[in-house]
Amino acid sequence: MKLSKLLILFSVLFLSFSLSAADESGWISSGGESFYDAKNPWILHSKDISYCLEMDQVGFPLNRAEVLAIIEESFHYWQTEFSKTGEISNSPFRKSYKLGKNRITFKERCSGFEDIEFKLGKGQLDQEELSFLEENGHSYLGVAVRKQYDRKSLRGNGFIFISSHKDIKENFSSPDLYPTPWKHHQLLMLTLIHELGHVFGIPHMGNSIMAEAFLDVMTSKYFYRAFISYGVESFLAPPKETKRCTLIDTDMYNFFNLDFRKYNCLYIKKLSDSQYDIYASLNQGKQEKVASLVSLSPDVYGLESKPIGYLRLTKDQELFRSDTTNFRHLIAGPLIERYKLTGKLINHKTFSSYPVTMSVSPESISVISTLKDRFVTVYSYDSLYSNILSETFFVE
Ligand SMILES: [Zn+2]
Repeated sequence: MKLSKLLILFSVLFLSFSLSAADESGWISSGGESFYDAKNPWILHSKDISYCLEMDQVGFPLNRAEVLAIIEESFHYWQTEFSKTGEISNSPFRKSYKLGKNRITFKERCSGFEDIEFKLGKGQLDQEELSFLEENGHSYLGVAVRKQYDRKSLRGNGFIFISSHKDIKENFSSPDLYPTPWKHHQLLMLTLIHELGHVFGIPHMGNSIMAEAFLDVMTSKYFYRAFISYGVESFLAPPKETKRCTLIDTDMYNFFNLDFRKYNCLYIKKLSDSQYDIYASLNQGKQEKVASLVSLSPDVYGLESKPIGYLRLTKDQELFRSDTTNFRHLIAGPLIERYKLTGKLINHKTFSSYPVTMSVSPESISVISTLKDRFVTVYSYDSLYSNILSETFFVE
């Protein structure tokens, strides 16, 4: 097996701690590059994954067993995400490469043959790895580095590095940085999820967990508490249930015939691709169904789903037959679901029905109907991640 020796840097948070020649000159390129196979997923659908963990003794408040549990949860996150296909955009007839359904095996000791080595703390890096990470003059809170790629089996391996608190103290100087993020299970998990996203070939994209600035914002002393207290958001598919307990405006109360003294939360729940229900409650208490969205169907002009990445087929690859890829060498991956639906809203208080348009994505949901010949938003939800990353929402 001929392995191409590649060190490919995938990510992520960096803060300069020494200036390289490139930094001093200010030259930097953006866009237009042909990456060839450098951004391919390391591991495709149904392939086994082995991993191991090495961590520094100091600089991590979590013990080895706790870190291993977080790694498992992070793998589980992506396996669940990749199973969310076959919804509106991800038709089974679509020709794309698939991800997920990987059998994941932990190796007690790193022997150098694992697909992913988790290296927590600088003390775990060998000289070659250290030189690679330091050559551009940046420090990384977390980073995924592919070291080898087999062009026949389209399979890579490498390491995920996470800075310890000691490394952060010695190498990072941002006054906004919360210096001890790994005291919190959730922050380490979100960091590992982001880095594993790169392992599965997802570049920086969107306004959520794979955003370029995600780790930067998550470890900001102004925002980290919000990321600890909030659940992990979906990346590929819209959430099946969301709530809105603030900023319910007069139109929403009027539309649902609700007394604003009695109700202050609205919920939407997905029953199927063609039906959702809307509920109201006071202070997240007992819920009362106020409306149903029925006969929903995709608006063909409203499909905005985008692939999470592309697989570049190499000349030597032995996985895909030409006829299964339409004789193409650049194949799109699973889609992030973003679409519009049109249908009917039935108000359960008045038994009236209204035309309705619904916009759905992992980061937002909005339902627009009509009230006295005006278009009104009768429900909307914006994810916390995208609110914070867009800085339209101030947490403290
Ligand atoms: Zn990244």
